Order: sequence, then C-alpha cells, then structure tokens
Amino acid sequence: MESNVPLAPLTTFGIGGPARYFCRVTTVEELRQSLDDARDKNLRVQIFGGGSNVLVRDEGFNGLVIKIELPGIVREGDTLVAGAGESWDGVVARAVHEGLWGIENLSGIPGTVGGAVVGSIGAYGQAAAQTVAWVEVLLNGERVRLNNSECGFGYRMSAIAGVVVRAAFALTPHGAPEASYVPELAGGSLADIRRAILATRAGKFPRLAEEGTAGSFFKNPILPPGEAKRLQERYPGLPVFSMPEASGVKIPLAWLLDKVLGLKGFCVGGARLYERQPLVIAAKKGCSARDVEHLARAVEEMMEERFGIAIEREVKTI
Ligand code: NAP
Repeated sequence: MESNVPLAPLTTFGIGGPARYFCRVTTVEELRQSLDDARDKNLRVQIFGGGSNVLVRDEGFNGLVIKIELPGIVREGDTLVAGAGESWDGVVARAVHEGLWGIENLSGIPGTVGGAVVGSIGAYGQAAAQTVAWVEVLLNGERVRLNNSECGFGYRMSAIAGVVVRAAFALTPHGAPEASYVPELAGGSLADIRRAILATRAGKFPRLAEEGTAGSFFKNPILPPGEAKRLQERYPGLPVFSMPEASGVKIPLAWLLDKVLGLKGFCVGGARLYERQPLVIAAKKGCSARDVEHLARAVEEMMEERFGIAIEREVKTI
C-alpha cells in the first residue's frame, strides 16, 4: 500500500488531490487482501478502473483507492471473457478482429471492462448489457457469478454489488449493423463500423493530450413518452430516442443545452461545456474540481428552472 498518491494522473479529467492510500491489484487474491486490509484498518475504499468517469475532489480521497488491473481476454465459443482491468476498447477491438458482432458501436469508449459493466455503457444504439452473459464479482470475500438478469442493468447504471473481477460478453458471428442511430453504418463491415464510430467520437470529445474530460458529464434525461411529446411540441425539432436498455424516451440533453439555452462553450474558471458536444465538460490545464462542480451546478439549476427537469450526473465525484 502506497500513501499520498496523486490521483489526477490516473483520471482522464486530470484533476483532483491525492489518495491517502493506494494500491494496484492484478489478481483476485491481491484484491481480496487489499479489501481485508482496508477493513482491518477501518479505511474507506474507492475502486478505480480507467479513471474515465470520475471527478476527484481537490482535497483528494481520505481512504484506500484500489486500482483494478486484472488482465486477460479469452475467447470461449462466441463469448469473450475479459478481466475487469482490461481496457473496454481492447475487448471491442478483439471482437471486431475475430468477426464477432454485438459491441462494435461501443468502439472508443474509454475505461475498463469493470467500469463498462458497472456503468452499463451504451452508445449509437447498442448497450454492453445486451451482450453480458455473466459477471463475476468479489463480494464479502467470495467470488460470485451473476447472470445478466441478476446484474439489474438500466440506463447508465446496474445493481451489481461487490467488485467486478471478470465479465463474459456473448457475441455472434452472424450479426448485422445496428444502424438505427447512425444510418450510414448500414451495410458496413465490422471494421468499417469500428472505424466510423472511432472517427465520430474523435470529433466529439476533447483530445486528452490537450484537455481533461470524463466524457459525458450528465445523463440524458429519460422521460415518459407523453412528457417527451409535450416537450417536442414546445421545441419543434427536438429529437427523441427509444432505448435498448430501459423503458421511456431519451431526450438529447446536448440539444436542449445548445439550441434552447445556448450554452455551448459556457465556462466557469477552467471548466467549460465543450463546443462540439455540450454534454461533455472539458477542463483546461490548471482547472480545479471546484470549477467543474460550480459549472455542473449552474447547468443543473438552469435545466430545472427552464424545463423542470432534474438532470443526473454520469460522472461520479470522489
Ligand atoms: P472509473 O472511472 O475508474 O470508475 C468509475 C466507477 O466505476 C468507480 O467509482 C466504481 O464505482 C466503478 N468501478 C470501476 N471499476 C469497477 C470494478 N471492477 N468493479 C466495481 N466497480 C467498478 O471507471 P472506468 O474503468 O474508467 O470506467 C468508467 C465507465 O464510464 C466506463 O463504463 C466508461 O466506458 C464509461 N464512460 C462512458 C462514456 C460514454 O460516452 N458513454 C464516457 C466516459 C466514460 P463505485 O465507486 O460505485 O464502486
């Protein structure tokens, strides 16, 4: 266990203070040991994957941060079984390389396999949850295997308890492009689709070498169909999307922030709503967690005042 380890370099935001204690685990046994140590020393525990969906407070984390680095991707039939510490995009790349369909639209999403299943990632009409065969967690010192329905997947959330150590994704060699969000994907090969999605994402998110970000900071609001229709009547042109992972209708928050509130580029200190995708908060070098927090609160208040919609955050503050 190391002490006073800066967390900013371990996150894509590049912001925040140190962890009082920190360790990396590459085996389930190391993970079990670290959790036991934390319990014996009465330390709070924070699990870290790729650090792509977290905002670390300026004062840091007063406890033990455990970074999950459990490795391995194995093919079993048409299923890919991956360690929780593998990069999610590495799993997608492997699937595409092996001619397996089901997660190609999820190309280029940052973070680890563990983060991907716990956060129930989705993009461009696909959701990782649709392919999950099982998830293995370490819970109260026991390795437990959860099948898909036991994971309680919803929109950008799951009910998975414990620390994810492995997950299995059931794919198919006989798939077809999922082109309902992006019609240009129709007819493409797996490699074409991956290339197109990577290019789209590259145009939408800040370049991490230049600025920090945790991708979409807020979740898109999910409204009952009737409410979404009333909003569409008030704001003609507002697109709505049905969802693979939950009931209700998804409203593109970015559209409301841009077309109605005119908030593209809106900034507080070093934090601003990214010009090309205002759901994303971009952080200049030197930006503090406080700047991000103030910006996020301002957006939340404007959404509440103007539309009566209480938006939720996708990014977790630590
Ligand atoms: P991370 O940011 O390091 O951690 C985020 C949270 O995920 C942690 O606070 C922890 O939640 C949980 N977590 C991570 N690994 C876990 C594991 N092995 N077992 C249990 N919980 C775990 O995570 P990450 O690896 O970078 O992944 C972040 C997620 O956000 C990924 O799904 C990433 O793809 C997604 N993301 C999506 C987009 C998008 O555009 N859709 C953009 C950016 C990121 P608790 O604190 O509750 O334990």
